[in-house]
Amino acid sequence: MEFNPVRQNDIHYLASLVRPDQLSTGDSILDLHAKDQSYHPARRPEVVIWPHNRAEVSGILQYANSHRIPVTCWGMGTSVEGNPIPLYGGIVLDFSRMARILEIREADFQADVEPGVVYQDLNNKLRHMGLFFPPDPGARATIGGMLANNASGIRTVRYGSSRANVLRLTAVLANGEIIETGTRASKTSSGYDLINLFVGSEGTLGILVEATVRLRGLPETISAVIATFPDVEAAATAVSEMKRFGVDPASLELLSTECVEVINREKDLGLSLTPMLFIEFHEAGKAQVREMTNMAREICEDAGCYEFMAGIDREDRDKFLKARYELAEMIMRKHVGRTHTVIDVAVPVSAYPDMISLAREESRKAGVPGYTFGHAGDGNLHMIFMIGTEDRKEWSAVEHVNERLVRKALEAGGTATGEHGTGIGKRKFMKAEHGNSLGWMKKLKNLFDPNGILNPGKIFPGNI
Ligand SMILES: Cc1cc2nc3c(=O)[nH]c(=O)nc-3n(C[C@H](O)[C@H](O)[C@H](O)COP(=O)(O)OP(=O)(O)OC[C@H]3O[C@@H](n4cnc5c(N)ncnc54)[C@H](O)[C@@H]3O)c2cc1C
Repeated sequence: MEFNPVRQNDIHYLASLVRPDQLSTGDSILDLHAKDQSYHPARRPEVVIWPHNRAEVSGILQYANSHRIPVTCWGMGTSVEGNPIPLYGGIVLDFSRMARILEIREADFQADVEPGVVYQDLNNKLRHMGLFFPPDPGARATIGGMLANNASGIRTVRYGSSRANVLRLTAVLANGEIIETGTRASKTSSGYDLINLFVGSEGTLGILVEATVRLRGLPETISAVIATFPDVEAAATAVSEMKRFGVDPASLELLSTECVEVINREKDLGLSLTPMLFIEFHEAGKAQVREMTNMAREICEDAGCYEFMAGIDREDRDKFLKARYELAEMIMRKHVGRTHTVIDVAVPVSAYPDMISLAREESRKAGVPGYTFGHAGDGNLHMIFMIGTEDRKEWSAVEHVNERLVRKALEAGGTATGEHGTGIGKRKFMKAEHGNSLGWMKKLKNLFDPNGILNPGKIFPGNI
């Protein structure tokens, strides 16, 4: 890819489009926008701009496009596949100052937001209206970054990923043109679905400047269960059976013993040191919760469950969820000085037990500290490996595990990345996953962004 560097005259022009405090070439600012939460090496942009509105984004893109300068968006930089790393330098657009909640329409269960809104902040505002925006990646993430990665979280099993929770988008294309796609109706069969094209495109097709998101009512009754099992395979079997028999939880999370050990170590929750499922029900009333809980209990017991602890009170549930959200950070704190990589395969839920078995076997063989957990209800398996930074042997052992699990997931009809996006790390699996569809994706990319300035180096492997 041939791009031009950002020169002094470019900075002068770009500075004329925004106020002085909206642009920086300072070293520390460039460093802060050089690396996400992944192991991929840092790459500094040449300038960071904080746009305030869509007109500024449009002006910047018109200029960048005609001068072949790369443009990469930045939400909070919490990605774990290198998604916002500006691989070719250029301009980073940081959306933290386009973070207004523009309108909440309670009666329609919708909100119009700017891309820099952090989803937890939106939910804090919605809570007293009895509403919430369900996708919840856990890290402090922006709605722009979540839509661009099609992020999910622990409640996706019930409410869907970011993709299922957006109705309308406004995007600025590479040439500066502003388009609006989607409607405020809860459904439509009008024309091609450009929303689904932009969601998950990691800022490679256009830049999101506004979204209408779908809200849900806070459930009347929330109830949680922790079920412990002799091994992760038994827990995974219970997950697959619950889905088969129509148990409809709002969360269905799996934790292996080593994850429970990490949580106990930091949070002192006194959890039994066995693999476990955390199951949460969101229902209209106690009778429905009872019915779901009884079905889950029967299935878990059939799968060999040791203990089925139902009706966990709110305080304990909140403590557990907080620990679950912080799990990745706790694992990293346990292995200071090592670096990490995260596996993120997803498979049809019936293939989950086999996937888990293979993951455990490969992890044992690798001989590197590894932690297995996942959004089990979605068939999404995560493993975090903590690797000696300079240890080539450990890197190649973990790379082998990743390859094995991705191949197995693809054979089962699954995906190399359930929720973290392709970024840099998953590009090499794109051909195997998408076959000749990948060529059509590339044609779409060339159509929307003929000069390839938008987040270059992502999604597509080098040879396409
Ligand atoms: C501890 C931890 C736990 C996590 N858990 C989960 C999880 O459970 N589920 C999950 O899905 N993810 C998870 N993640 C990953 C990450 O939080 C999500 O992918 C999140 O959506 C990234 O949002 P962000 O605001 O940080 O975006 P960034 O990382 O800044 O950017 C993400 C992508 O979006 C693009 N982008 C940003 N803004 C725009 C815009 N306005 N227009 C177009 N493109 C844009 C960027 O260029 C980049 O490609 C986790 C991360 C961490 C560190």
